Amino acid sequence: MNHFEEFGIKKELIKAITELGFEKLTPIQEQSISVLKEGRQNFIGMAQTGTGKTAAFGLPLISLVDTDSRTIQGLILAPTRELCVQIAKDLENYCKYLNEVKIVAVYGGVSIRDQISSIKKGAHIVVATPGRLTDLIRRKKINISTIKYAVLDEADEMLNMGFQEDLDAILGLTPADKRTWLFAATMPEGIRAITSRYLSDPFEVTIGIKNSAAENSSHIYYVVHERDRYKALKRIVDANPNIFAIVFCRTRAETQKISEKLIKDGYNADSLHGDLSQTLRDKVMKHYRDRSLQLLVATDVAARGIDVNDVSHVINYRLPDETELYTHRSGRTARAGKSGITISIANTKDMGKIRHIEKQINRKLVYTKVPGGVEVCEAQLMSFIKKIQKVEINRKEISKYLPVIYDEVKDIDKDELIKRIISLEFSRFIEYYREEEDLNIDFSKKDHVRTKGSAKKGNSMFINLGAMDGFNTGSMQDYLIKMTGLPAKTFKRINVKRTFSFIDIKAPHMPDVIDSFENEIYKGRKIRTDASGSGNKSRKSSPSSRGKKGFYKKPSRKKFKNRRAS
Ligand code: AMP
Repeated sequence: MNHFEEFGIKKELIKAITELGFEKLTPIQEQSISVLKEGRQNFIGMAQTGTGKTAAFGLPLISLVDTDSRTIQGLILAPTRELCVQIAKDLENYCKYLNEVKIVAVYGGVSIRDQISSIKKGAHIVVATPGRLTDLIRRKKINISTIKYAVLDEADEMLNMGFQEDLDAILGLTPADKRTWLFAATMPEGIRAITSRYLSDPFEVTIGIKNSAAENSSHIYYVVHERDRYKALKRIVDANPNIFAIVFCRTRAETQKISEKLIKDGYNADSLHGDLSQTLRDKVMKHYRDRSLQLLVATDVAARGIDVNDVSHVINYRLPDETELYTHRSGRTARAGKSGITISIANTKDMGKIRHIEKQINRKLVYTKVPGGVEVCEAQLMSFIKKIQKVEINRKEISKYLPVIYDEVKDIDKDELIKRIISLEFSRFIEYYREEEDLNIDFSKKDHVRTKGSAKKGNSMFINLGAMDGFNTGSMQDYLIKMTGLPAKTFKRINVKRTFSFIDIKAPHMPDVIDSFENEIYKGRKIRTDASGSGNKSRKSSPSSRGKKGFYKKPSRKKFKNRRAS
């Protein structure tokens, strides 16, 4: 028997979700469905993404819809287009045997006309991003004065993304006696304000600890010098041959740059950030979902609402400034009861941040050494052996070649043959890692003091571009914004000289800014920057510039490369 039956869910819904493999309720579903399906109370659900939230509100909401009426009765608001599409798709799947329930998704980045015509045809449940919904309301193309239930999914994210005003305006147009169901993973102050304004006497459910990370995820961090950040990332990937990860960067420019470096180094990676068109974002997501992409390099904003199960690792290429973002990032792994790992690449200046995160999520982040060559080679070897164990032999296709092959190797005994095959695969790993140094900061030698000291040198950055290159203060600021993706206020004082400039960078963005210029060329000249402001040192060239070092080469990348070139 399907456990959902005990909760009085319509049989058509049970049939559909059974086909989806839902048999037992997840904790959030257990605690919310019986309350929500009555449709009487306001509701607050504190739960991470991946806990089964969509069904927790979706199944009761669908059950409450009166299909004899043509009015919109349920309004679900979600922070991103991706999440919006995902929720609508999930709800449609639940309604496989309840065709009469009409669900329409409205979100930006695609034609508004089609969405208007879908609404006109009749919708019982509308899933919307606040921005697009506001647009439709302004154009008088949607009437939300009839709704009975408003669901605010990932409400904390909507506030983070600056939708407070839109939410106020939207909710102000809905009937006072509607029920509001709010879901959030964290409970920042803004959410408290919304709940006290819109949710009188709510039924409250918390899954896990507020602001906490999922139980089944582990959290580790590495400490490396700033210059070794990218190398550490490569080590993580090399030491985990079956990795299926999201790599979080802080800026769009960094996201783009890291994914390009990974691609250049032969890894199966691509980027997801706000500078890409919706079509490209959809394409990247499709490749990631169907696993033809192994590493998704993303900004926080672009990755919001990504609903992909089985993400094995969340990698913080750089730790976020806000602890809540850490929780959201790590919520992309360890979904639906599966286990996952969040790895943070830190430098010595990040220690305070790490302690703060630990306090907030009530979990220890475990210091771990960056894998060395031996570990990487071992991991690759074991993965290779596993592949041999599992490979399907195409007996028919290879049979015609076998006689010649057997003849060629007839003088090599079995043991020797195995050794040779292994060596063939492994020489390149071993060769590469033979010369690779230990990336871990040796605390006993106190070499990290150097990093700390250099941080104290000030926040002035030298760059070898100046008036001679056609820059003045204004154009230099525009250029810095363009290259780093950071806002104007990051660049506090710009002093343009003839052949170079000094820029005061707002803490803590210096590493981001410096990294944005790594290996960049301006009118044929290599850009040099220096964080201390002395101006004489250029940065060490990146490992990627030394040629292909990665181990993942997928022919499918070609398509993406063409796309980039065009
Ligand atoms: P969500 O938090 O709604 O994004 O759900 C996370 C994942 O868990 C989705 O892939 C759902 O299809 C899946 N899921 C949700 N509820 C159940 C359930 N009761 N049993 C099995 N899988 C579920």
